[in-house]
Amino acid sequence: MANIRVKYHPNEHSILYSETGGACPLCGLPMMFKKATSKHPTIGYEIAHIYPLNANASQANALKGYKAPAEINALENVILLCPSCHTKYDKDFKIDEYLKLLDIKNKYLSEAKAKLTASQHALQEEVHEILDLIVSSDSTYEDLSETKLNVSSLDEKLKTGISPLQKREIRSNAIDFFVPIRNQIRLIEQRDQAAIRILQNQINSYYLVMSKQNPDNKDIVFNHIAQWVSLKTGKSIMASKVLTSFFVQNCEVFDASSN
Ligand SMILES: [Zn+2]
Repeated sequence: MANIRVKYHPNEHSILYSETGGACPLCGLPMMFKKATSKHPTIGYEIAHIYPLNANASQANALKGYKAPAEINALENVILLCPSCHTKYDKDFKIDEYLKLLDIKNKYLSEAKAKLTASQHALQEEVHEILDLIVSSDSTYEDLSETKLNVSSLDEKLKTGISPLQKREIRSNAIDFFVPIRNQIRLIEQRDQAAIRILQNQINSYYLVMSKQNPDNKDIVFNHIAQWVSLKTGKSIMASKVLTSFFVQNCEVFDASSN
């Protein structure tokens, strides 16, 4: 029996449109445009099924071994595409394109989930001081032998589920900023014993939630934490990534055994 194409509610269109940021995820073409004759923007997208609504023989053949979604018309299985990418995707179905679209969609879902989770997680005020320091700090410390930075334990934490580039970013951030951040943390601790412990716990619990939502993908987890810090503090994503790297290095939950 053939699956029936459903009509999506305007609110569902809003959700699907917002996840793309307004551009076709395959070619980047805008998915709303303004006609000279019209007061309002015109829709220039179509709703595409990632796993085909009714797979034909060659699609079914290509999809052998890939599980169909429980609900073919669920929002999780559709994505907005510009009309030409949609036609090309359906008519010239390729498994690589299917996996690419699936990957894009999973990233959208993961980002949306992380954004919603971000509002429920607080961050200690002291985080501002550390971020300000990161922004203004311009020296790198060559000699770390006097410090407690344990590079091999950091490497151990970043052993699995992370790309080499992401690993490199976290590692060099942690090394470059270890001394200034640690000194700032000591100052804060002299004033308030618990502040940094609370901050570390807040970052740890956000890490655990993100890790649960995105198992085995530390790149995504790291970036979600940094985005959350940036969102909560209004500071740049660059500074937030440095701070996140420091706390990853300092944190007991961010390790291979937690996955
Ligand atoms: Zn397109």
